[in-house]
Amino acid sequence: MADQGGHTRRRILKAAIGGAAGIVLGAPVRRLAGAPAQTVSPDAGTLRLSEDLFVLRIPGEANVVAQTGANGVLLVDGGSAGASDALMKAVSALPGSGPIHTIFNTHWHAEQTGLNEQLGKAGRTIIAHENTRLWLTTDVTWPWNGQRFKRAPRIAQPNKTFYTTGTLDSGVRYGYIPDAAHTDGDLYVYFPQQNVLVVGDAVSGEGWPVVDYATGGWIGGIVGALPRLQTLINGETRIVPARGPVLGLGDLKAQYEMYGTIYDRLTQLLNRGRGPSEAVAAGPTKEFDAQMGNPDEFVRRAFESLWAYVSPDA
Ligand SMILES: [Zn+2]
Repeated sequence: MADQGGHTRRRILKAAIGGAAGIVLGAPVRRLAGAPAQTVSPDAGTLRLSEDLFVLRIPGEANVVAQTGANGVLLVDGGSAGASDALMKAVSALPGSGPIHTIFNTHWHAEQTGLNEQLGKAGRTIIAHENTRLWLTTDVTWPWNGQRFKRAPRIAQPNKTFYTTGTLDSGVRYGYIPDAAHTDGDLYVYFPQQNVLVVGDAVSGEGWPVVDYATGGWIGGIVGALPRLQTLINGETRIVPARGPVLGLGDLKAQYEMYGTIYDRLTQLLNRGRGPSEAVAAGPTKEFDAQMGNPDEFVRRAFESLWAYVSPDA
């Protein structure tokens, strides 16, 4: 399309003025902050958020954030193990790149912890919430699909854990998101100089979120985390979720309205004694489905997640 280039540039410019995104290296951008969530994946390529901060987007993988510096590279999340080579390539291609010295695991999932073994063997620092470390020391089976995850080898387990908050020598701050939006080990990483907040899967930037109630996540945690994260940021903060495009404060506000509505409806269904299939049939997300996609799996999982937290029988 002849208009595509200009259109894209306008949107990048608009987003940059709004502080909502950055410059893309090596790939066209079709969606940026504020664009409606769609079923398409975010574009591959490296998104430059500032002089030293980047989002690395390997096709089919969750977002990885990389900060370059005199001491080497800091990563937030490491993709899945199968993508390690592609990710390492993307890291070495960064301007001012160097060896990775530290990685954060925003939570225990395989899509985030695939680089741990390699970095652990190299003696690098792997930072996570203590609950994330604990999940990586045990086998996990997801009850909704039977998928099994073997415990991580000791060398791949986080070697620096925390409970509440922490600060790196560089000034980068991190903290626990105790609402259990996605798992009970979710963390955020905040880059104050760049005004960038990395939130893992505690916020979904693309489509319906995954509610991993097997390791503590629940729909009430999604509703709780959104206002909590808003207290850390301002209107110019760029928010990097594990999936989808860079978000802004307005996105968190809109998500809070939506998930709050859905949470209320699901708890009402639960209190009336309905089950997961009845919850799906009730269409508790109906006015959002055109924008967000088929909600059935999300609704079922979100409803089941209530059992552990607010079930009258619990
Ligand atoms: Zn996850």
